[in-house]
Amino acid sequence: MSIKVDQIIRSDRKSLEIQISVEGYIIVRAPIEETNENIEKFLEEKKFYLLRTQQITKAKYLNDLHKKYEEGEKFLYLGKQRPLKIVENKSIPLKYVDGTFFLSKSFLKVANKVFIDWYKENARTYILDLANRFSKLYNINYTKIKIRDAHSQWGSCSGNGVLNFSWRSILVPHEVISYLVVHELAHIVHPNHSSDYWIEVEKMMPEYIKYENWLKKNDHICSMFKNDLGSFNKKISSDKKLGVKNPNDQLEFEL
Ligand SMILES: [Zn+2]
Repeated sequence: MSIKVDQIIRSDRKSLEIQISVEGYIIVRAPIEETNENIEKFLEEKKFYLLRTQQITKAKYLNDLHKKYEEGEKFLYLGKQRPLKIVENKSIPLKYVDGTFFLSKSFLKVANKVFIDWYKENARTYILDLANRFSKLYNINYTKIKIRDAHSQWGSCSGNGVLNFSWRSILVPHEVISYLVVHELAHIVHPNHSSDYWIEVEKMMPEYIKYENWLKKNDHICSMFKNDLGSFNKKISSDKKLGVKNPNDQLEFEL
């Protein structure tokens, strides 16, 4: 089996890098002068790892796309899969009680929207509470929290002290959401990823590396509930690692 590369992006860079988008596309970033032979050789060396990762990524993505709103289906919330129960028509579309989601029958046709609205609302309350707590504890003031529909980054910090978070942050475990908040809050002090920045993060959360790694491993969660396949251009934007490598002169900092 050989590897099908979906896109090669050449730029003013020194080394080759392979990325697998959340949808399972293989993207190669290469220096302008790099020969196709070298790229092929590089891919060949990593062939088994790439094919395996691509397969897992695609499966996760497709599984999410085809999620059904049926009794017994599971939905992520705070890092755990929670079962869904369909209940007779109630005025409240969706309730969450003791680890179970209860969806009212009359809202089945708009279940996707109902779920996303519920997640957004919860993300807002949850993140606001965390941000206020860390803000008071470490005396770092932000101006506003915005909950966004971003599916290519977990959070960002705008130059004016506004902290933005994807509502999908509510899908990950409590400790990881806390880290997302700490990560963006620390950008108010250091608007970059310099060593001073990471010292600030460590001060607030000594074990932050554990959560960084968790996020890397669970990358696909950041694009869950994205219900159309989108254009290829959109897929390219699902690279979350660039922000860390090129932190300078940016107003927005990707995680
Ligand atoms: Zn950052």
